[in-house]
Amino acid sequence: MLKRFTAYANISEVTSYAYCPRLCYFRQRFGEGLGVLSAAKEIYLSLRKGLDIEWAKNRFLSLGGDEEVFERAHAEFNFLKIPKLKPIEWEVSLLSRKYRLKGVVDEIVYDSGIRPLAISLKAPKEGVWFKDAIKVASQLILLNESNFAEEKIKNGFVYHCFDGVLREVEVDRKLRFHVMKLVERVLRLKRGFVPERIEGKKCSNCTYLENCRATSSTFASKFL
Ligand code: SF4
Repeated sequence: MLKRFTAYANISEVTSYAYCPRLCYFRQRFGEGLGVLSAAKEIYLSLRKGLDIEWAKNRFLSLGGDEEVFERAHAEFNFLKIPKLKPIEWEVSLLSRKYRLKGVVDEIVYDSGIRPLAISLKAPKEGVWFKDAIKVASQLILLNESNFAEEKIKNGFVYHCFDGVLREVEVDRKLRFHVMKLVERVLRLKRGFVPERIEGKKCSNCTYLENCRATSSTFASKFL
C-alpha cells in the first residue's frame, strides 16, 4: 500500500506569508539568504549560552553567512538589555502532525512556567509586529503539542535585539486560528499557487522585486 505523504508548513514560511504572501512564494522556490536577523539571532544565542561574539560569528559564517551582514548586526545589537528570563533550552526543533506545522523555537524560557521566546530586530512603538505575533503563536502551538509543556501555555515573548526591548504576546483563540489559516495558505503555495502581488512600502527593499514584477498570479493568469 502506498504511504500518504504529509506536507508541513514551516514556521519561517508562515511568518514570511504573514509579511508578504509573494515573498513566501519566492523563498520557497529560490531559498533564503542569511540576513541581519539570522546574524543577530546568532549573537543573542551565543551570549545566552555564555559564549562570545567570536563564536557567534564563526557559527554564522559556517552556516554560509556573509561577514559584512554579521558586522551590521553586531554594530546595532544592544548588549545592555539582555532579558532576565531564565533560559531552559535553545533552537528546539518541533513538529505537529495535528497542525501540519514544524519549526524551531529560538529559546525556551521560564517565567512562572515554560514560554517560547522569538528574536526580532527593532520593536514597533507598541506591542509587536504581526509577523512576530504569528511566530510566537506558531512556536506556542508546537510547544503545547510537545513534551515540554506541563500545562497549556498561553503566552510567549519577542525580544528585539536592536532596541533591547522584551514584549509579551498573549496568544488567544483568534491568533491560533490565524496560524491555522496561514498553514493552509502556505501548503497551497507548495502545490503551485501564485499569490496576488500586494505592492507596498516593503517592495522597494525586496530582493525579489524584479521576479515579482515579471510573475503573474494564479488568479490573474486565468485572464491572459
Ligand atoms: S516585491 Fe513586494 S509584493 Fe513582491 S515579493 Fe517583494 S515584498 Fe512581496
